[in-house]
Amino acid sequence: MDRAALPNILTVDVEEWFHILEVDGGYTRDDWAGLESRVEANTDALLALFAEAGATATCFVVGWVAQRHPRLVRRIADAGHEVASHSYWHEVVPRHSRASLVQDLAASRKLLEDLSGQRVRGFRAPGGSITHATAWALGAVAETGFAYDASLNPGHSSHGGFATPWLGPHRLRTAGGDLWEIPWTTVGVAGRRLPFAGGGYLRLFPYGVIKTCVGVENRAGRPVNVYVHPREIDPEQPRMALPWKRRFKYYVGLRSTAAKLRALLRDHPFVSAGAWLDAHGARVADQVFDVRALGAAPPEHAPLAPPPPLVA
Ligand SMILES: [Zn+2]
Repeated sequence: MDRAALPNILTVDVEEWFHILEVDGGYTRDDWAGLESRVEANTDALLALFAEAGATATCFVVGWVAQRHPRLVRRIADAGHEVASHSYWHEVVPRHSRASLVQDLAASRKLLEDLSGQRVRGFRAPGGSITHATAWALGAVAETGFAYDASLNPGHSSHGGFATPWLGPHRLRTAGGDLWEIPWTTVGVAGRRLPFAGGGYLRLFPYGVIKTCVGVENRAGRPVNVYVHPREIDPEQPRMALPWKRRFKYYVGLRSTAAKLRALLRDHPFVSAGAWLDAHGARVADQVFDVRALGAAPPEHAPLAPPPPLVA
């Protein structure tokens, strides 16, 4: 597979430095509005880096952030990137009832469409928090008009883990209709699937290791799905009082991530998820995973269901 034939997929989860899931010492939703905002400056720095490399990305924007920074959403769209949803409240799926998830998905999609002028096609769940037990959520994603999901992690993480028959982009058959899936990119290590192309993994692993893994995936005919958060290139961000393991996970490698991203974008072609599907989706369209039989029925009342989004 030559470079021109198989670009990789570049994605950003556009959220604040304090949008870290479920940690002691973290902030609650009630604290957010009173905290310093760093998302615009950090996202602009990422956009500049992408422009330098001539790469386009999918920006999965948290609805709460979009509402407070509408001009940022505009700048992302005007620079030629794809705007997609990272939910409104940045809450993990198991805390949602079916009704609250549908409400969150629909509100975030409408808000982002109004602000960007684009049709919003993609969704990524906070923490990649869709598992076989909550596979019902994929039906809600399809039902609310999304064309693709980018939440599933074939390995395991704090909130996710979703074994799939295919490691690259494929189709999902859900109770709400068919969807494209762009899973997390993983590499096989000692019988397990380990992510290497985003978040803490990208910050922790030396560039040489990441480059080798990209080569392995591309030679197997699969694009690598890189994901980064604006806070990950911001060594000056305020530090939260986290337990030491979490502290390491969230703050390791902040000074080297921009340089690694620059190298990745220099050595490999990258496009947005939507552009990848438009150009290359046909080659994987026959890889269909029927998830309708998986997962429990959605809860009617989740005890921690978030409040309705603040948008009309
Ligand atoms: Zn997130």
